Amino acid sequence: MVKFNTLLVRGGRPDDNSTGAVNVPIYNSSTFRYPKLGSDVKWDYERSGNPTRDAVEEVCAELENGDRGFAFSSGMAAIHAALALFKPGDHIIIGDNIYGGTFRLVNDFLKPRGLEFTEVDTQNVDAVAAAFKPNTKGVYFEPVTNPLLKVSSVKQIAKVAHQHDALVVVDNTFLTPYLQKPLDLGADVVLHSATKYLGGHSDFTAGMIVTKTKELSDRVYAVQNTIGAVLAPQEANLLRRGIQTLNLRMDRHIQNAEKIIAYLESNPKVSRIYYPTADKSSQDYKIINDEAEGAGGVLSFEIKDGLDAAKFVNSLQLIILAVSLGAAESLVEVPAFMSHFEIPKPERLKMGIKDELIRLSVGLEDADDLIADLDQAFDKI
Ligand code: PLP
Repeated sequence: MVKFNTLLVRGGRPDDNSTGAVNVPIYNSSTFRYPKLGSDVKWDYERSGNPTRDAVEEVCAELENGDRGFAFSSGMAAIHAALALFKPGDHIIIGDNIYGGTFRLVNDFLKPRGLEFTEVDTQNVDAVAAAFKPNTKGVYFEPVTNPLLKVSSVKQIAKVAHQHDALVVVDNTFLTPYLQKPLDLGADVVLHSATKYLGGHSDFTAGMIVTKTKELSDRVYAVQNTIGAVLAPQEANLLRRGIQTLNLRMDRHIQNAEKIIAYLESNPKVSRIYYPTADKSSQDYKIINDEAEGAGGVLSFEIKDGLDAAKFVNSLQLIILAVSLGAAESLVEVPAFMSHFEIPKPERLKMGIKDELIRLSVGLEDADDLIADLDQAFDKI
């Protein structure tokens, strides 16, 4: 078995073309010929399988040490497919800080269809343990959350969940398999918004699920093929291409994030920094050290009370004001007014998301330029 960095570049390559092309071609074909009626064909219809999509699904399965990968048209489509493993009457424990779109799926779509959910602070393993009921069938959480970068232990939660025969489903968009492999830590299903680091270039949306066992693979395949939100071949090719440089990009994202943190730490207008390894005495730091190879490229910080976050972000010239993360270019957002604006203010403040909180997805630009841009924006507030 070759190493992870080699898999990124060379994994998932079915030898299925007669041209010698080193990359899997983009098979723009929704349907595939049967040589004869009754022939046993590998591909027959794109929703059920397409060679370009298969290639990227295979490389992701290899990267996660899983049984099988499944590519979807967005992260939300992947999350929907993963939660479709559960049925009405099932109870699922979910992290209380998961992505807002997932809360919307849970509250507006799945609860009215008879699934039961309890929100729990997954940093507190005792609270997770206490939330189990006789009908609990799953635990769903994000090992690193947005925008406060709170860390939960995959190992500890998986241990508790498996004592109750519950499935552990992890959204690992923030860390990627380069930094953490949740299936190796005990999770049963790992998923990603591949729109973010896996794709890496803000040029398409995608989702990915990787399952641990053949039994789960068969169930997810049935959902993918039935509901049908599959990734198209063009995007599957872009995802394959993005994944080839995941290691280099993640290393640079982290290096740049660390330089920016050092700058923010010395800035008197910053009151607090959120990054899993910023406080070396924290439990978050311990878990990241134990279960991951790094903390990723997203960080948040609070500017001092009374300073104007809007003025700050509007003054940035290089860093782009936009939601999303994990791209080559640095993106900044103010959660209270952008990604988390739908949450009523008292609830948002209770979650720790103040108006002064700014979230940065650190890109691949020169860190000196990013710091210079932040610095001139700080001068304006
Ligand atoms: N999970 C996380 C952690 C996210 O940040 C996002 C999007 O921001 C999603 C899932 C949803 O993914 P997508 O936007 O690709 O549907």
